Amino acid sequence: MLKALRIGQGIDVHRLVSGRPFILGGVTIPSSTGLLGHSDADVLCHAVIDALLGAVGAGDIGGMFPDVGPEGERWRGADSLQMLRLAWGDIAARGFTLINLDATVLLEQPKLKPYISAMRKALASALGTEMGRVSVKAGTNERLGFIGREEGVLASAVVLLSQAADDGT
Ligand code: MG
Repeated sequence: MLKALRIGQGIDVHRLVSGRPFILGGVTIPSSTGLLGHSDADVLCHAVIDALLGAVGAGDIGGMFPDVGPEGERWRGADSLQMLRLAWGDIAARGFTLINLDATVLLEQPKLKPYISAMRKALASALGTEMGRVSVKAGTNERLGFIGREEGVLASAVVLLSQAADDGT
């Protein structure tokens, strides 16, 4: 049986505001500000979901989890790690397995190092895989632009999937 490899990339940005929890990769991080969004605004989970959907040509996160219209209410305040579980469940049911995920978060503060391991663990669990296949990195934006001014956070993710048989769908 032919094994096909599929690559996907996802990028997401959310605004930083006061009075919101700061959730990244399913982990709540102590912070005076948090991410603004329709769901829990977990920018890292969102980038991973977009990467997965992109790899299999299944559109984007807005298509699967709309934030407007009759479906929008369903996802208000949603747990993005659970959204990731749902997205991955659909993709895995189509015969895909995750080879690896590599993600980067750009923000000025707080330092994410103490939380990286917990984020990798949470993402790996949602994806039904081991931590060794999940990488999360963090960097600053050298104080440049909206990230530098701490107005927002950017996450980027790349996934590589394999499919048991390439039927081109
Ligand atoms: Mg988002």
